[in-house]
Amino acid sequence: MNRFSYTRASEVQQAIEQHRANAGAAFIAGGTNLVDLWREDVAHPQVVVDISRLPLKQIEPGAAGGLKIGALVTNSAAAYDATIAARYPLLAKAILAGASPQIRNVASIGGNLLQRTRCVYFYDAGTRCNKREPGTGCPALEGVNRMHAILGASEYCIAVHPSDMCVALAVLDATVHLSGPGGARVVPFAEFHRLPGDTPHIDTNLRDDELITAVELPKQGFAEHHAYVKVRDRASYAFALVSVALGLELDGDVIVNAHCALGGVAHKPWRDADAEASLRGKALNARTVRDFANKVLCDARGRRGNAFKIELAARAIERAFAMATQRSFEESAS
Ligand code: SF4
Repeated sequence: MNRFSYTRASEVQQAIEQHRANAGAAFIAGGTNLVDLWREDVAHPQVVVDISRLPLKQIEPGAAGGLKIGALVTNSAAAYDATIAARYPLLAKAILAGASPQIRNVASIGGNLLQRTRCVYFYDAGTRCNKREPGTGCPALEGVNRMHAILGASEYCIAVHPSDMCVALAVLDATVHLSGPGGARVVPFAEFHRLPGDTPHIDTNLRDDELITAVELPKQGFAEHHAYVKVRDRASYAFALVSVALGLELDGDVIVNAHCALGGVAHKPWRDADAEASLRGKALNARTVRDFANKVLCDARGRRGNAFKIELAARAIERAFAMATQRSFEESAS
């Protein structure tokens, strides 16, 4: 039996203090991932600090024409918010591609960022796993790895980040607002999640005693030309084999700006700044899109169970460009 104590905070500083005062404490909001981890003997909080009643449920104007989403806004509330639907439809579509309505109704925006990989070995406390127990090994390297990473992996871990929402947040260049005993700070979304390296047990750059308070979107929402493509084993309630979030600015047939992130392929949403830069000023056609996909995937490494993801990701990128521009780019693969 896991014995624990429970405490509830009504203000951010109170939550931080309660967390700091109790070794082995964990914050809980929707609990949709923590309770799974707890039940499977992967997480063992001694104290649970309930933050579900903190005043972090607003969606309000952000800096410089952007939008600030409180960390306790539920996934459903964000997806169906009128401003998000109108100005950031990519985000709404990505959220609605994830989980189930019941889960989205309780899962929080902050918790979505912090959900842990769904690698089967990670959830099986009877197996070795460097992420669960550093130094024990990674059976996925030669084992069941169909869902695993093709980019940015290491010999210590080839897990992927499971979120759909985070793939859209990466494209939107969101920032993450954090609070801790040392005060508040803001982290660019690209710097929030980490690649596994030799410390795969550390998923993010959030400090142990910090709390996510909000996610902020800049003004540019790519409402005119965007797409979220998710390829999965069944039509709903399944994690992505590969997903693509895309935002484009076009001047006629010329690409002015392109942001593209892949999900289901790495330990964090995967963007390639050089590949994106290579698109600027290019004519939008099938060759341009395939060249871009090849650039993004040039360092991809497949394993026995997941090598198919490399071509799948290239085709998903083509599909995303097609959906964002109502054209077809899929017939020219070579
Ligand atoms: Fe553990 Fe990562 Fe290996 Fe999965 S891929 S078994 S999470 S170390």
